[in-house]
Amino acid sequence: MRMLKNNLGYPRVGANRELKKASEQYWSGKIGTKELFAVARSLREKNWKLQQDAGIDLIPCNDFSFYDQVLDTSLMLGVIPARYNDILIKNENNKEIDLYFAMARGYQKDGLDITAMEMTKWFDTNYHYIVPEFTQNQEFRVFSEKVFEEFNLAKHVTGTIPKPVLIGPVSYLLLGKEKEEGFEKIDLIKKIVPVYIDILKRLKKEGAVWVQLDEPFLAMDLTQKEKEAFVYAYKEIKKECPEIKTLLTTYFEGLHQNTSFAVSLPVCALHIDLVRAPKQLDNVLTLIPDTLSLSLGVVDGRNIWKNDYIRSLAHIKKAMAVIGKDRLMIAPSCSLLHTPFDLDLETDIHSEIKNWMAFAKQKLNEVKELNEIIEGNNDLLLENLKDISSRSLSKLIHKQEIKRRAMAITDQDAQRHSVFAERQKIQQQNFGLPLFPTTTIGSFPQTDDIRQLRARLKKKEITLEQYDLEIEQATISAIRWQEEIGIDVLVHGEFERNDMVEYFGEQLNGFLFTKNGWVQSYGSRCVKPPVIYGDVSRPKDMTVRWSSFAQANTKKLMKGMLTGPVTILQWSFVRDDQPRSETTYQIALAIRDEVVALEKAGIKVIQIDEPAIREGLPLLKEDRAEYLDWAVRAFRISASGVKDETQIHTHMCYSEFNDIIQHIAQMDADVITIETSRSQMELLEAFADFKYPAEIGPGVYDIHSPRIPTVDEMVSLLEKAAVLLPAENIWVNPDCGLKTRKWPETQAALQNMVTAAQVAREKI
Ligand code: GLN
Ligand code: ZN
Repeated sequence: MRMLKNNLGYPRVGANRELKKASEQYWSGKIGTKELFAVARSLREKNWKLQQDAGIDLIPCNDFSFYDQVLDTSLMLGVIPARYNDILIKNENNKEIDLYFAMARGYQKDGLDITAMEMTKWFDTNYHYIVPEFTQNQEFRVFSEKVFEEFNLAKHVTGTIPKPVLIGPVSYLLLGKEKEEGFEKIDLIKKIVPVYIDILKRLKKEGAVWVQLDEPFLAMDLTQKEKEAFVYAYKEIKKECPEIKTLLTTYFEGLHQNTSFAVSLPVCALHIDLVRAPKQLDNVLTLIPDTLSLSLGVVDGRNIWKNDYIRSLAHIKKAMAVIGKDRLMIAPSCSLLHTPFDLDLETDIHSEIKNWMAFAKQKLNEVKELNEIIEGNNDLLLENLKDISSRSLSKLIHKQEIKRRAMAITDQDAQRHSVFAERQKIQQQNFGLPLFPTTTIGSFPQTDDIRQLRARLKKKEITLEQYDLEIEQATISAIRWQEEIGIDVLVHGEFERNDMVEYFGEQLNGFLFTKNGWVQSYGSRCVKPPVIYGDVSRPKDMTVRWSSFAQANTKKLMKGMLTGPVTILQWSFVRDDQPRSETTYQIALAIRDEVVALEKAGIKVIQIDEPAIREGLPLLKEDRAEYLDWAVRAFRISASGVKDETQIHTHMCYSEFNDIIQHIAQMDADVITIETSRSQMELLEAFADFKYPAEIGPGVYDIHSPRIPTVDEMVSLLEKAAVLLPAENIWVNPDCGLKTRKWPETQAALQNMVTAAQVAREKI
């Protein structure tokens, strides 16, 4: 017997972001369902064939999604909040896809005005999913046929039997949110499992053999009740669908104290992530029963580095010695959704560095090669060894003076001169801002014009002078327009930036960029994370030119705009050859130098965005304190080089703050702006309970949706905020930056926002 080569999921947006382009065209009415579905179909076909060519035995299907796999699951199970009922009735063609997109993006058409569902981060990744909404009397039923359609399509395309991928029932429930009091979502397990059983039975009937059930929560901290739900679900599934081969997948963490529990569940195979949690293997091998197969996640599905075959083979051989080849599978650690598509498309990466890297397509090949080495091909091993060792010695990576500066950081470097209360007095006196000051988070719409400008500069169709001139004009008109509607603290609009991390990475040493390394962030939105391959330093000023240009064009306060060290780390592909904290401190020093340079150039308000602090939080509670320690310290290092007069803002989005509120306070920013509108200010309660000491701008409208908020709804959100917090500490701003929006809706929304602040000043 041989080992099965398993793959958990594949990037679905396409090597050239075909799905993004098609969906956006569909949303703007430029194409219809026929064209959209054709693009989606061809992407799936290509992916399946690619995996087949790479020799993958268990090829996933239903890992494709038009927007998000959790939203797909909600539709599959008929978990559709009541507010969307009217869409299927009013929508002339009665299309499921429009209901689906409405749930993701909100709906303002046919006389309906329905808000989108909440979105939050997928574990510790930068992928966002649509949060299922549960009610006390939640019913489940098979609603969408997508999983069956995709299974049949994959079967047809590959001529083999693909492996449908489902989010398992327990994890699906735990990913959701109770929308009413009086019940716990996990209690819905008895209602949801029968529907899963119906689905599995039908898949079986249509020819499925293996079915992958993603249960990442099995590798998280679990309550007794949650464990019972797992036992109940998988016993029932085993009982009702005995012929289905169930593959239970865990990833992003190790099984730790859940190991004996996890291996005792009545499933056919268990997948474990040996990249994130290599140590779990020993324990799993000790406890594994004879009936259970094991899928070894040895190829990193979260990063872009070439696999170290020696390390992977050590795991594989250890497992082989205990349970034998025929109960083993080799696989990437998690779905390859989180890696870019194809390294072969990158023609500009330094060849030495490119040799250290692998994207999704190459990772499939690594799975194949590992199997070939096990079968005796030693050349592959030697070749790999050569690349891996060249990386550990390369002068491209290791710079002694940077390592020394990071080593020499003191507590003083992480401390502002005076405490917040002192700084606030000084700043209030100097700035003279009104109650409920208004501001925005930084970016204004990145219109096609602006994007094209950048593309033309890249292609050298225009000169840098021409480019700068156009950006200056865009900046000035944004300034004029902010002045006209009466915003208090202005931003320059970030027109010169492609992306909040890429922009900085391009100017720092130790980073490299890909041409096509797109990774899905949410819906049609993709990001192209930089690759941090070496020690990081800042050769020259990065933002001073644009911030001082903007400040010179207005008498109002102009906010400087930087991305914080933790976010730069978190949204990049990072080195796996040193601790994350070391890389972060190097970045923090670079940002600190930039903050000081901005102050020197006359910028009085400086925002250091840290939207990713929360997502960097380790998934297991026991690991969190250590992370928060260095993450907060890194922020403070970046912010503490300035005088008390300089107001430091920070910004965070999609975060729940309850469990980290004291650490957010320890960041010691003068102002924090946060995303709160989709949760109706609920997220503010943590700040209120903690008596958060500094100023806060709770977002008053959702920027993920094109919907224009009314003055009244924003006033009522401010009223809510003012019940929770001292009014004099409240700022008024949107949830996040506006770069993904269009101008007309942005102008209308911000106009309403300023009016809402004026009303609030009178009323509250
Ligand atoms: N300043 C950034 C912007 O406005 C912040 C973006 C973010 O938090 N994701 O675009
Ligand atoms: Zn944000």
